[in-house]
Amino acid sequence: MNGNLSRRHFLNLIGSVGGSTAIYQTSLALGLMQDVGELPKLDLLDVSGQRKKVAILGAGIAGLTVAYELERAGYDCTIIEASSRVGGRNVTYRHGDVVDEMGYPQQVNFDKAPHLYFNGGAARIPGHHHRVLHYCRVLGVDLEVMANDNRLAWAQDDAAFGGKPVRVREFTTDARGFMAEIMGKAVNSADFDKPLSDEDMERLMEFIKAYGDLDDNAVYRGSERAGFASGGFLKHGELKGTLDFSEILKSSFWRRGMHFNHAEYWGAPLLTPRGGMDNIVKGFLRNIRSPITRNAQVQSIQLRDQGVDVIYNHRGKRRKLAADYCFNSIPAHFINAIPNNLSKEYVEALSGMRRSSFLKIGLQMKERFWEREKIYGGISFTSQEINQIWYPSHGIFEKKGIVLGAYAFGPEQANKFERMNPAERIQFAARQGEKIHAGYSGHIENGISVAWGRMNHMMGCGNEVHGDNKDAMFDKIQTPDGHHYMIGDQISYHPTWQEGAFASAMYAVGDLDQRVRASEASQG
Ligand SMILES: Cc1cc2nc3c(=O)[nH]c(=O)nc-3n(C[C@H](O)[C@H](O)[C@H](O)COP(=O)(O)OP(=O)(O)OC[C@H]3O[C@@H](n4cnc5c(N)ncnc54)[C@H](O)[C@@H]3O)c2cc1C
Repeated sequence: MNGNLSRRHFLNLIGSVGGSTAIYQTSLALGLMQDVGELPKLDLLDVSGQRKKVAILGAGIAGLTVAYELERAGYDCTIIEASSRVGGRNVTYRHGDVVDEMGYPQQVNFDKAPHLYFNGGAARIPGHHHRVLHYCRVLGVDLEVMANDNRLAWAQDDAAFGGKPVRVREFTTDARGFMAEIMGKAVNSADFDKPLSDEDMERLMEFIKAYGDLDDNAVYRGSERAGFASGGFLKHGELKGTLDFSEILKSSFWRRGMHFNHAEYWGAPLLTPRGGMDNIVKGFLRNIRSPITRNAQVQSIQLRDQGVDVIYNHRGKRRKLAADYCFNSIPAHFINAIPNNLSKEYVEALSGMRRSSFLKIGLQMKERFWEREKIYGGISFTSQEINQIWYPSHGIFEKKGIVLGAYAFGPEQANKFERMNPAERIQFAARQGEKIHAGYSGHIENGISVAWGRMNHMMGCGNEVHGDNKDAMFDKIQTPDGHHYMIGDQISYHPTWQEGAFASAMYAVGDLDQRVRASEASQG
């Protein structure tokens, strides 16, 4: 590294209505999907006895939240859900379930045991997703800590270390050590521009040594952070030799995997409902009385002056629901195919929303071989198409476990798997898993793949909004069109997080409350 490094560059390098509803609306106005600060409390006006009818389209997290809040305030809610299943993208697969993929329905053949389940959609809850956590609390959903990050898991890249996996712990420690050594040399170099005081320079060197675990001469000679080569608890431990820095640089692991646990959404500790993410859905079902009509596909949405008419097809029969208000979580990219009289600008905004595509594979392993490799939860990373292998944090020491065997993100990655049939996807994932765990495929008993781009009633995962008028589009769809509200994580700037679904529902319900209060006030 050349010594011509200014202080600024160097530091950059290192440091690479009524009451609460009104407050709530104000806070939302500052940024709908703020995920920090106080959780706004909904304090809805009780409208019991006024027979205000609400149609809720879609029984995912957003629809269920609206039902939960509004029925408590005396609204008469009806939920219309196209699928035979409630929960939408919050889905946990267990023995006997069916993965409802278009053309490839898959029977789930996991053994029947409480720990053998697979979260096919939502799986993780960051600690700052306070709306999700609030509803888990009020619905009585038991949570546990989930090891998302594990320094004993593997980093594998065909381009480095001859394709052999190395422990995340060794990779990360050595990468930091070598980087710190280089930083130390740069600081010691005569060319280093020195607006730093002598004291700051001293502290800087101490920082660099601590950061990389360097010796007194600021040289990296390995670190116990990477683990010991031998020793154990009764003998003096021998440090592991360091990895080859050039191989570290060749690996793609440092691009993302090495830092993913620093990102806001993935930093430890993460939480998850004990026994499966769909325990949130079950919590709602225990706590709401509103009828849910399943297998009912919405086929028309017509605004009236003071309400909304919804036509849906229930088991081959057309039915009509006349409501005062409608909350709609149907994926926006379906709206053009549903006859409606929503305003032109509203439909244009909805039409601009595309869906990304994610794919997850869940594999039942006949033994928990990863625990023999000292891995308890967390993720191994690979440059291959499967991207990641997740090990369950629950069910430790059980005989079997469900491993996430592939997680493809975005159409480019997911399409490759989508073109295969379910059996081929599992064979493909099995072959790639072999590069991380020898004998991997031999442990697989059965598996499922959840290709969100091909799932019935969904055909995609998170929204994708591009272009210069992104803000204008979000403004449009976050604002009701007459008595029709769009809800769901799809109207959030942070798609593919339940927090967005909850936030959209709370926002819409708060807005309705203000309108009702305003109308009552105007009538004296
Ligand atoms: C692979 C994946 C990983 C994820 N990971 C996480 C995570 O770790 N943590 C997290 O918090 N979130 C995660 N999410 C996101 C989370 O699952 C969603 O944000 C949330 O479930 C969305 O809820 P929703 O109510 O907005 O929409 P949905 O769940 O999509 O609900 C929409 C509902 O509308 C129904 N519907 C569709 N068409 C019609 C029609 N014509 N008539 C009637 N009903 C219809 C659908 O069947 C569905 O039930 C993940 C999602 C996926 C897919």
